[in-house]
Amino acid sequence: MKILVIGGAGYIGSHMVKMLGQKKCYVTTLDNLASGHRDAVLIGDFVQGDYGDPVLLDSLLARGFDAVMHFASLIQVAESVQHPDDYYRNNFVNTLSLLNSMKKHKIKYFIFSSSAAIFGEPIYNPIDETHTQLPINPYGRTKLMVEQLLGDYDRAFGIKSVCLRYFNAAGADPEGQLGERHNPETHLIPLILQAAKGKLSHINVFGRDYDTPDGTCIRDYIHVNDICSAHWLALLSLLRGEDSQSYNLGNGNGFSVKEIIETAEKVTGQIIFQVDSPRRDGDPSRLIADSRLAHERLGWRPQYTEIKNIIEHAWRWERFFNI
Ligand code: UDP
Repeated sequence: MKILVIGGAGYIGSHMVKMLGQKKCYVTTLDNLASGHRDAVLIGDFVQGDYGDPVLLDSLLARGFDAVMHFASLIQVAESVQHPDDYYRNNFVNTLSLLNSMKKHKIKYFIFSSSAAIFGEPIYNPIDETHTQLPINPYGRTKLMVEQLLGDYDRAFGIKSVCLRYFNAAGADPEGQLGERHNPETHLIPLILQAAKGKLSHINVFGRDYDTPDGTCIRDYIHVNDICSAHWLALLSLLRGEDSQSYNLGNGNGFSVKEIIETAEKVTGQIIFQVDSPRRDGDPSRLIADSRLAHERLGWRPQYTEIKNIIEHAWRWERFFNI
């Protein structure tokens, strides 16, 4: 199978490229390296360029692909509020032109990295696929708009898609070759581990006055390889002729910021210095996924469900590889 991975040099995309290689696919990565890393693309062809460039896309898709997986997006909520123009262009407009190229080149299958951010402030937890979709920031809105666009492109042009809404992607390649390398890093687990390594002096705890048992926010952390296995199963479902569908991906377990810091202290053997900081804008107190639909329809079972295991993999990467 020939698969184009857009954003394959980024955190989740690079793990996907490696997994597709293990599945014996022919993989081409397209990445502009704005935030990705060339050395994270372990197998296949690599094309450096912007997926918003219609001429490049046209010549690339003319090579013929069975499916496209799309991981390339801007992901910072606060930045999306300050620069909605960048977010709508990169995440929405460029995806629109990508889909138009796919239509032209008759590529029928598309797997899209969506987000729990499409739901906005949760009305209930765990969040299933029927939960109201009311994103509260431009980032979430761009993801929801693409999901809606995909529904229309399926009905009109027969492009079949699966949207996977990640909750909190975490962890690293269990074999230690890949991991999280954002710049700037804003995610909780890599920042805690950077503090454990001495690269940062402390971790800011954004709010201790939430309506949760210990007052800190609760999130559903899901291992990056489990996200990738869901992508693979999603693609197989489309190849079997199943309908386009969206799935929520998480472990169904919530961990507070305090619990994550405590687990990281056990894993690393280091005391992590904490500084109490104000709440971060737009952070809901609790976000937990109900992933039963993905279990039932895709046969997806997360393999790395222990938070300790997820942090161990991230720590090995942070400690030895992410110098
Ligand atoms: N968080 C924190 N300190 C940090 C980074 C994150 O307390 O330096 C908290 C954040 O407020 C949220 C949780 O950790 O409650 C997870 O945040 P992250 O940015 O990793 O993912 P998000 O839930 O925003 O997608």
